[in-house]
Amino acid sequence: MIRFENVTKRYRGTKRPALSGVDFEVQRGEFVFLVGASGSGKSSCLQLILREESPTSGRVAVLGRDLKSIANRKVPYFRRSIGSVFQDFRLLPSKTVYQNVAFTLQVTGASRGFIQQAVPEALALVGLSGKEKRLPHELSGGEQQRVAIARAIVNRPQIVLADEPTGNLDPGTSVDIMQLLARINAGGTTVVMATHEAAFVDQMQRRVIELRDGEMVRDEVGGGYGDTSNVPRLEPEAIRGAAATAALQTVREVHRETEAAIAEPIPAPAPVEEQRTPAPPTVKPADDPRPPTHQITVPAIDVAELGVADRLGLAERDDEEVGPTS
Ligand code: ADP
Ligand code: MG
Repeated sequence: MIRFENVTKRYRGTKRPALSGVDFEVQRGEFVFLVGASGSGKSSCLQLILREESPTSGRVAVLGRDLKSIANRKVPYFRRSIGSVFQDFRLLPSKTVYQNVAFTLQVTGASRGFIQQAVPEALALVGLSGKEKRLPHELSGGEQQRVAIARAIVNRPQIVLADEPTGNLDPGTSVDIMQLLARINAGGTTVVMATHEAAFVDQMQRRVIELRDGEMVRDEVGGGYGDTSNVPRLEPEAIRGAAATAALQTVREVHRETEAAIAEPIPAPAPVEEQRTPAPPTVKPADDPRPPTHQITVPAIDVAELGVADRLGLAERDDEEVGPTS
């Protein structure tokens, strides 16, 4: 679905390549974390996948196509199969929630009927029904990121790329966003997420590709974050109040909904019950270098249940990829 073949990326006027000899393949339906310190090349990888940048050498193939073979004028069309989410949300500030999500569909010439059906469904999936008329500044950060996620999935993309999507959010809200991305992935959409949130990576136990100074130093299935000693990190505040309750509520609800339906055993998920009480302000052993964490459960959810799976591209697909990778 996404293939990097010995990819090196050197930006004009820089001494050191941003990426060197990066080689990996992501299969359809995978959830992959791209981890590494700031400047290690995570965003560059995502930009290459979107064909916002081109490799200096090597090859990037996405959805079965060598990106070099896509003519410039066809790039916008190619990007419709990919939804993108960024740290800074990138919403249109003067457009409402509804308009932000509808906008992508309008510019791509979707029919009015499709838009009227797809937008409310995408907003329902991210839990924003009833907030269609709000402007971005009338929403919390977490809600703004949900709008961005709705916008990313409304066009039924096969791939969702998320570049530090929780980077501007408090820990409780970040859990919600992780949960949502896990849910979208559980419906069959391939998700690649760049992050340096070690706690989430550790808890999700998904594939981890680690970059260090542009080189791939690890590709591990079900890995944790790994050595965090080089990653500068702020101690997050202990979650409390509304954010904690909301995060907990989401985890509980999703857990309840899917308890019976868990297809894939998750390595040692902590029981949800443990989180009944939000962590008190940082009670932890003095020698524990880790920030307090917030437990995530990753259910194998039946998105079809929500009745929107097919429209949002979250259902199982049996159509072929665009063409041979050769
Ligand atoms: P990360 O997302 O892991 O922080 P980036 O991919 O943004 O890493 O950056 C990797 C390296 O490439 C850094 O040294 C950065 O300064 C450099 N870089 C990124 N984008 C550009 C650009 N457009 N021009 C020049 N250098 C860049
Ligand atoms: Mg980055």
